[in-house]
Amino acid sequence: MPPVTCLRCGGRAVIKRPKNHHKLCKICFIAAFEDEVHHTIVSSKLFFPGEKVAIGASGGKDSTVLASVLKTLNERHNYGLDLVLLSVDEGIKGYRDDSLETVKRNALQYDMPLKIVGYDELYGWTMDQVVETVGKKGNCTYCGVFRRQALDRGAKMLNIRHVVTGHNADDVAETVIMNLLRGDLPRLSRSTSIVTGSSSSEVKRSKPLKYAYEKEIVLYAHHKKLDYFSTECVYSPEAFRGTARTLIKSLEKVRPSAILDIVRSGEDMARLTPDKGQNACACDEGEGMGGCGSADAKTSGSELAQMEASLQTTSHSSNLETEITTNGKTVDDGSVKLPIRATPRAKERPSGPLQTLGQCIKCGYMSSQITCQACTLLETLNKNRPEMSI
Ligand code: SF4
Ligand code: ZN
Repeated sequence: MPPVTCLRCGGRAVIKRPKNHHKLCKICFIAAFEDEVHHTIVSSKLFFPGEKVAIGASGGKDSTVLASVLKTLNERHNYGLDLVLLSVDEGIKGYRDDSLETVKRNALQYDMPLKIVGYDELYGWTMDQVVETVGKKGNCTYCGVFRRQALDRGAKMLNIRHVVTGHNADDVAETVIMNLLRGDLPRLSRSTSIVTGSSSSEVKRSKPLKYAYEKEIVLYAHHKKLDYFSTECVYSPEAFRGTARTLIKSLEKVRPSAILDIVRSGEDMARLTPDKGQNACACDEGEGMGGCGSADAKTSGSELAQMEASLQTTSHSSNLETEITTNGKTVDDGSVKLPIRATPRAKERPSGPLQTLGQCIKCGYMSSQITCQACTLLETLNKNRPEMSI
């Protein structure tokens, strides 16, 4: 069987892109992936020269790839960004303590400063203690609210107004499906924005990997030999997201474009939603679950875990995940196709309630309510803390 040729350079192809089944050599795959993230950044005007940007870093594949790609693109295209790694320590033994070690290595590898903020210091609770108190049901709600505020607080400590997160196309598609099934169009609309904010934060969030497939992120990390942590959280992720994830992975198998199609449909629905709605909450952007990087393997039928394991154990490039066959009928022109819309949204604006920004009376943190979400949750927790009970 003759070797399959790379669509871009004519060399030997070793990768069949999960996104579009283009057959590429390793160098061309890496270049195509980086070009597409660059295109997303430029067409969405994500950054300005000299901007200080915090990369929400968990040590997982998404945020590690984000840090690596941003460093590469920042140098290659002279973005002029001042990049910092910002990590949240939820206080989960056997998970976050190990993944933070990865982030510390990444800080050295990428020569970026690292700031770690912990739930313990911010709220007086670790997630281990929260789970001990509330059990494993609803724990992710606490975690999501705490993480969002922790990232904001960490960014403010660093005097940074922009946090980028590693949310990928699969995460966004899952959130679209979940909100569609819930009938929550305003939240669906917010979840599709590449840039988000909320009424209770001065810190802008964005997702430069919004159009990158999760499988391609794994491939990129593998071929660039990135150092990341792939164990998931010891506390079970939300079942509903897991179901949405499994559905999306099944659709992807029969139609590779399904993930981007769902993201595009979500964007179209967002344009039809007049008001992005009230009640912005911690899970607006699919954070908490997709954002914590813990829902990868188990909830997708172990498909990604198997893919990572096979990548790690395969030494011959010809046997990689590429499934390249010579009888495929795909005809490609080699151009980079991206899902950026020609017609921009009327005005990209921070989503969230139209309430005035005030301060939480308890912690003094910005909040549109009298008490911020974190303090409301802490109140319940503190009532149940054994040593604080009357
Ligand atoms: Fe937190 Fe994610 Fe673990 Fe839930 S699964 S407790 S959101 S780290
Ligand atoms: Zn090539």
